[in-house]
Amino acid sequence: MSSPTTSPLRWSGGGFTEAELREQVCEIGRNLWTRGLVAANDGNVSVRLPDGHVLCTPTMVSKGYMTPAMLPVVALGGEVVRLGEGGLRPSSEVRMHLRAYQVSDDVGAVVHAHPPYATAFAIKGEALAGAMMPESVVAMPEIPLAPYATPTTDEVPDSVEPFIRTHPGCLLEHHGALTWAADLMTAYLAMERLEYSALMTALVRQIDGERQLSPERVAEVRRRFGLA
Ligand SMILES: [Zn+2]
Repeated sequence: MSSPTTSPLRWSGGGFTEAELREQVCEIGRNLWTRGLVAANDGNVSVRLPDGHVLCTPTMVSKGYMTPAMLPVVALGGEVVRLGEGGLRPSSEVRMHLRAYQVSDDVGAVVHAHPPYATAFAIKGEALAGAMMPESVVAMPEIPLAPYATPTTDEVPDSVEPFIRTHPGCLLEHHGALTWAADLMTAYLAMERLEYSALMTALVRQIDGERQLSPERVAEVRRRFGLA
């Protein structure tokens, strides 16, 4: 993976400048592309700026090859505040990101990708839930499915809104996946976790090995991690 052009990147603690957030968005984009969580120009990443606007990825650009100056800025209502270098515009999919910021002040970053295994379940129309591993019980016990929505319409943000306050991410039926969190790295890691859950579910089904932790074990994990 390429190293960031300014270093060291700080990934925790908040209070990032716009310049730092531009570097972070590019690095998260490279991670998504390098790990095969997006293909071609697919996917988009956004983050709330200190001034309340939203920095996002441009349309029609590979997330593996973005530079900080390429990222446009939009207002929470969707108006373009600044174009990216060379007139690059935000993706139309930024509207579902904006809905997450509008619905919850706790959301500081949003990641959208088309991870292969998660998207396979999204096409099948199956939400992911289960307790096959303690990590899932703690981090992502349920990955709901937002019903299919026609791209570029208000149906898309409407379909994800019910999950914003209650879950760290969801599948988008016939489309891909969306994750959100207080900061970029957490939102990105939620996408990795979501795809890993889908991959494991597919693999254990192939070997006819799907097994859940017992309710007692799940309760024990939840108690240990302060979730009960
Ligand atoms: Zn998409």
